[in-house]
Amino acid sequence: MLLRPDPLPAESLESYFIRLADLYGYTPKQLIERFHIILDEVDQKLSGALPGNLWQLNVCHARVSSSLRVECLELLAEKMCKGRLPVLELAVFRSKTRYASQHHSLYWQGLDIPRSFVRKGSIPVCPKCFEEHEKPYVPFYWHLHLVRACHKHKCMLVEQCPDCLQELNYMRTGNLKGCSCGKVYETMPSKEAPEFLWQLADKVQEEKTDHAHSGNLLFNLDDIHQLFGAILWFYSYAAERGNQRSISDDTLPDCIAFFDQWPQSLNALLKEKIETAIMLSDRRFSETPFNSIFGRILIVSRCLPNKDFNSNPILKAIFAYLDACMHSESELSEIGYSLLNGYEAAALLDTYDEQVARLLDEGILPAAKRIKNTAVFDPKRPLFPLKTTFNVWLMRFQSRLSNRHIYLPRW
Ligand SMILES: [Zn+2]
Ligand SMILES: [Zn+2]
Repeated sequence: MLLRPDPLPAESLESYFIRLADLYGYTPKQLIERFHIILDEVDQKLSGALPGNLWQLNVCHARVSSSLRVECLELLAEKMCKGRLPVLELAVFRSKTRYASQHHSLYWQGLDIPRSFVRKGSIPVCPKCFEEHEKPYVPFYWHLHLVRACHKHKCMLVEQCPDCLQELNYMRTGNLKGCSCGKVYETMPSKEAPEFLWQLADKVQEEKTDHAHSGNLLFNLDDIHQLFGAILWFYSYAAERGNQRSISDDTLPDCIAFFDQWPQSLNALLKEKIETAIMLSDRRFSETPFNSIFGRILIVSRCLPNKDFNSNPILKAIFAYLDACMHSESELSEIGYSLLNGYEAAALLDTYDEQVARLLDEGILPAAKRIKNTAVFDPKRPLFPLKTTFNVWLMRFQSRLSNRHIYLPRW
């Protein structure tokens, strides 16, 4: 093959393959069959590692060995056309970055994106983009739950075919024209998008524009990973359980509104948790686990995806609020006696639970209860008073990037 299309801005790998197939008059399925023939000539093991469907082709979908998938795509990039195909440049990989300690992420063109932000069902489209572009294509951004509007046309992306009501997914239909029922994308009606949704799409695509939400934390973050981290944090900690914890047109307004009044909204949320604990508690705070008051706050807020205060505004605000409470004259100061478990103490000190066991052994980190010398350290056991642990952090564990001065005024 002599020709190859150039990738378009932020184009998804699947969209690129569809255009490549079009160029030679193939369907995507025929293109993938051709891929298999090329791989077979080199090594049958490689051909077996490449799935037959367009929507499973990306590197992140490789179940067992993604290195084998990379090898396949690398080889195809070399052998398919005269010039090398930009396949791995467009691919989505698994990333080793974890958000909030447990959320896996995917890597695409320099970005670590929480996996839960990537759509599994429909991939919506902007009909106006299809109408306007000489070469219609799908940008990878449309695969993200956060992108619900077209930032260029300020309209909502269309998720469902208006004629047959099927969810749109160009990877399943294998074309960049329209729904499988024949309705073409460019004739699908689209609704005007609320301002915050196209501005969010703008922000996710790192477009520099003036935003009305000047006081909103989300729109002021410099790094897109901090934006992902803050939104993920909202959905895994601040939002009500149930439906409110998944990104949708209905829940995003609450998420954005929460960050309008930052950090007052966080402080109010935490204050409410403390007051509830005081009201319901039938034991003293010195016997109350920290996580029975605040849930998994320290664990969830630690890596968003960074740990230092300069690039984790959520963690910084939490430290500032806990610090202020513990040193206040009010009953809120009681939380200083609540007990952290080993994992939480590790999160507060920015270290590992093994290190916490050692600090305990050496008497540096005092426990609220006596531990038998022979007992094995159980990191799940609430053991370390918040205020004492906080003081250990102040004395020994601050650093240039995670320092009390970052949230306290200097005077
Ligand atoms: Zn558009
Ligand atoms: Zn349809």
